[in-house]
Amino acid sequence: MKKPAGELTGKVALVTGAGSGIGKATAIVFAREGAKVALLDRTEESLEKTVEEIEALGGHTLKISADISFVPDMERALATIAEQWGTLDIVFANAGINGVWAPLEDLQPEEWDRTININLRGTFLTVKYAIPLLKKKGGAIVITASVNGTRIFSNTGATAYSCTKAAQLAFAKMAALELAKYKIRVNVVCPGAIDTNIEESTEERNLTKEKEPVDFPEGKIPLTNGKPGQSEQVAQLVLFLSSAKASHITGTPVWIDGAESLLM
Ligand code: NAD
Repeated sequence: MKKPAGELTGKVALVTGAGSGIGKATAIVFAREGAKVALLDRTEESLEKTVEEIEALGGHTLKISADISFVPDMERALATIAEQWGTLDIVFANAGINGVWAPLEDLQPEEWDRTININLRGTFLTVKYAIPLLKKKGGAIVITASVNGTRIFSNTGATAYSCTKAAQLAFAKMAALELAKYKIRVNVVCPGAIDTNIEESTEERNLTKEKEPVDFPEGKIPLTNGKPGQSEQVAQLVLFLSSAKASHITGTPVWIDGAESLLM
């Protein structure tokens, strides 16, 4: 029997933060489903493992080193995709950092700016510069926000991060309305704790447990008895939202957290 075509056969996707965690897993899932994937991360070296895994599947990639918060980088990134592949169907705006988690009195304005710039301005730039290509045929954008965008998280000090994640939800709703005329759908995934390298991008300073506003035992995730989720699980949700199966879904956040946020 002939092997069935993949869910994304013939599609071109851009994945930001493709060198690690959720972005890497999603890029691999997209490739497994037949998409050509433009992999974007801060450095080319950080993309090598993702490229290796996709090439082992027989897939096609384009490596792009860029900072999502920097206009010339993102203009160049999208111009490269246009030159090389001439088309774009799916954008996974996923790259982000935790940044500095500190009480507001200690958090420095430049630390605040860095988190806002990467997580929020970076989402804006990724989407903005992708629109000219996406609107040729319509397509799908998925943004990675977080349970922090809507719930009061137990980690005090995560204010800048949480603001970016809440703002991404508003951004997605506005973008979904504005881009509907081009048949571009815009949805959001809101993960709870997922086992990735994100902690390496975190600097925690002067946080005290007794300042925590809610009683949320560390690591308690009802569905898994405290175990964090896996990037592949988020990738499967992103695949669904990016595929024709989700053709009537837009402007919608989807939680993926093993009921973690229900305890917050
Ligand atoms: P990760 O650190 O494993 O991967 C993030 C990737 O983004 C890294 O490869 C990093 O180099 C890249 N990146 C960071 N800043 C960048 C920039 N300015 N330009 C280009 N690339 C940049 O982390 P992850 O957990 O896979 O994070 C992916 C997304 O998921 C983030 O938006 C994060 O906020 C969100 N998220 C993660 C969790 C979790 O528990 N891991 C939970 C909720 C939301």
